[in-house]
Amino acid sequence: MIPLEAVELKQQDLKQAIAIEKQHRYTDVQGKKQRFSQFLVKELEALSPFLGNLDSKEGLLNASRQYAFMDLAGRMRFLDKLVEALSQPNQKLPYTRHPQDPMETDVQYVKGVGPRIGDILHKVGVLTVWNLLHYFPRKYLDYNQRLKIVSLTIGQEATVIGRIRQVNAHITKNKQMAIITVKIADETGELLANWILGKANRRMLEAYKARYTIGAEVMASGRVKWDEYKRRLAMDRPEVEILSYGADDPDMPQSLHSGRIVPVYPLVEGLNLKALRRAIRHALDEYLSGVADPLPLDIRKQYRLLDLQTALEQIHFPQTFSHYESARNRLVFDELFAMQLKLAMIRNEYKSHASGLSLKTEPEGLVERFLTQLPFRLTNAQQRVFQEIARDMGSSEPMYRLLQGDVGSGKTILALLTLLTAIENGYQGVLMAPTEILAEQHYRNCVSWLTPLGLKAGLFIGRSGAKERRELRQGLLNGQIHLAVGTHALIQDGVEFNRLGAIVVDEQHRFGVRQRIQLKDKGENPEMLTMTATPIPRTLAMTLHGDLDVSILDELPPGRTPIKTFLFQGKARQEEAFGLIRQEIFKGRQAYIVFPLIEESDKFSAKAATVEYERLANEVFPHLRVGLLHGKMASSEKDSVMKAFIHHQLDILVSTTVIEVGVDVPNATVMLVESADRFGLAQLHQLRGRVGRGSQQSYCLLLSDSRTPETLARLRILEESTDGFLIAEKDLELRGPGEFLGTRQSGLPDLILADLIQDRSILEMAREAAIVLVEKGLHTEFLQYNPGNSFSVFSSG
Ligand code: ADP
Ligand code: MG
Repeated sequence: MIPLEAVELKQQDLKQAIAIEKQHRYTDVQGKKQRFSQFLVKELEALSPFLGNLDSKEGLLNASRQYAFMDLAGRMRFLDKLVEALSQPNQKLPYTRHPQDPMETDVQYVKGVGPRIGDILHKVGVLTVWNLLHYFPRKYLDYNQRLKIVSLTIGQEATVIGRIRQVNAHITKNKQMAIITVKIADETGELLANWILGKANRRMLEAYKARYTIGAEVMASGRVKWDEYKRRLAMDRPEVEILSYGADDPDMPQSLHSGRIVPVYPLVEGLNLKALRRAIRHALDEYLSGVADPLPLDIRKQYRLLDLQTALEQIHFPQTFSHYESARNRLVFDELFAMQLKLAMIRNEYKSHASGLSLKTEPEGLVERFLTQLPFRLTNAQQRVFQEIARDMGSSEPMYRLLQGDVGSGKTILALLTLLTAIENGYQGVLMAPTEILAEQHYRNCVSWLTPLGLKAGLFIGRSGAKERRELRQGLLNGQIHLAVGTHALIQDGVEFNRLGAIVVDEQHRFGVRQRIQLKDKGENPEMLTMTATPIPRTLAMTLHGDLDVSILDELPPGRTPIKTFLFQGKARQEEAFGLIRQEIFKGRQAYIVFPLIEESDKFSAKAATVEYERLANEVFPHLRVGLLHGKMASSEKDSVMKAFIHHQLDILVSTTVIEVGVDVPNATVMLVESADRFGLAQLHQLRGRVGRGSQQSYCLLLSDSRTPETLARLRILEESTDGFLIAEKDLELRGPGEFLGTRQSGLPDLILADLIQDRSILEMAREAAIVLVEKGLHTEFLQYNPGNSFSVFSSG
């Protein structure tokens, strides 16, 4: 932050330099370190946040960059203009006293705040003036949008301005309620504002009466309704702004409270809107000039962002809505930029290790031999992603990549290619999965692919015996085992590699960053590929995995029979679904039946898997072999049920969503989901991916009792599409990021202004800018810059 003295000094330096240049007849004089024109550009850029009017400022900056190329007359004209601009009183520095640093100044010193309001603000996290400047309006009242009472229509959200004609307050006989009615009139008609208060006392009523005095000019916003009882237009609990208490209201600077667009702030008890608005006005007047813009000018220019001072001014008191938009864009950028910067730094830390491995493949090498022995050709998407991976592995920066691909898109092949690339170069590989079932599945796959290549894999899971474990560790340590496959058992102490070169983490969102790092620390800057079958829309991926490079497998291998998806509404259709299950089982296939929750007592009416299991096993499918799997079972129990299903000792598996991840039973052809409306689309799509893994036609049956058209429309998206990314995008749009991620994973930063869906393009910019800045090593100044962290309490308004 540049203190004001420094600004003034800089201005003087600049004037002095100009004087010298003039003495040298505008020859772009060579100074000790640089030419005049270079000095000029640098100083002006540094000063720019403190200069007044934005337009002329940009003009001056642009011209200064041209100085070296101007002719004599141009140089003379420009320097005259610049001297004039520099000697003008700076609009943004209206105070003679030096403003204190807003980040260091307690909010209570703002005029109009004081200790009492200061305390309230402290409690909600507004500690400093800086925080107050970032206490953004919840909405704005736009006087331009106001309507005449005569033109109101019922059901409409409207704002009217009028004077208070009458105030009635009375308490019901049983003293349970108080009703307040304020009659507001403009020159065209009358409107009632109604409030019903529970348990009100006299004092509260008096307070209302005192606030809504007859004759006061008010602005009321709310939904218009028809008050049947009083036979008049009315609004229930409207938002009322007192504009003035009379013609000569000393308490009411007109410009502040009745400008054309007026801010409305989120309030907490004890805060009053007018006082807060005034305090923020004071904070802007007194401290804004002390706000230095941490965002470098070139970034601001590149992304066409306002400077911070203007943005803060305009977010609170916008001149027009387009000013508001620009201000919001800038502040949203800041918020997202701060977040992206952290991610870019993690990424940089991972990548900038002194020397990553540089792993290349040779003709006739392992990778090539593996590819020729494959019974199929890689899909185009697989080839593209493998190129991305090979490029990363070949460079000396360690790979740090996320592979996203729908279920069945063939990620395992890419995992193997990654691991084999390391092995071909004389290193070992490790493949970590979140569950034993998955680890074993991978292990079986790996053994069948690697044995013909003369390679050895080892399985590391919790339940291996002590002797077996010792042998495995030994093999890994002396390099006889080329590939370790396992669960988090791999992370444990004592598991050591001879030369670890590549890590693959499957279903990576089930592991924490810490676990990935622990694994990584077992080698020297190994290459890391993480994989997920949960398609995450790009915006969210950038937020959650902004530290990773992302590859996308968006193509399924050929020859798959697309899964048929049907939505069955209501009880009556349930039998139809069960009929289809019976048919498939008679053909020798298997089925899943999934329930959203397991306890009957749950506050939702979702059917309980346990209870339903009994019914299904005994009444609906009495002659079939039905098993139950749910999250509260011991993991050994789960494993044995799962194995029974894998080995076709069960026809039907009734379960909660524990089967969601990665299980591969190609003989299962039906997935029936009960109360499907309780699931998110992305989750349903995941579930659906459990079937359709063999060559037979598979079915996904969605059951729902819902009658809500939106819910049903949402579920129909699944009938129509099998594209996981498209479904994820829709799901995100419909439910928002919090719901979308649900319990699966949160880790979302608190965002105050930014909206990950709406502000997608700003997010892309912020990410790009953050990566460039970190790569140039210019990010250190931003480390404490956190525009929104301490007042997330307000995010819900
Ligand atoms: P996922 O991405 O869900 O992990 P898998 O890697 O398990 O998918 O692949 C699903 C199935 O598709 C496997 O049986 C695999 O052998 C097969 N497969 C993968 N790539 C191809 C391909 N290019 N052509 C044909 N089949 C493929
Ligand atoms: Mg997989």
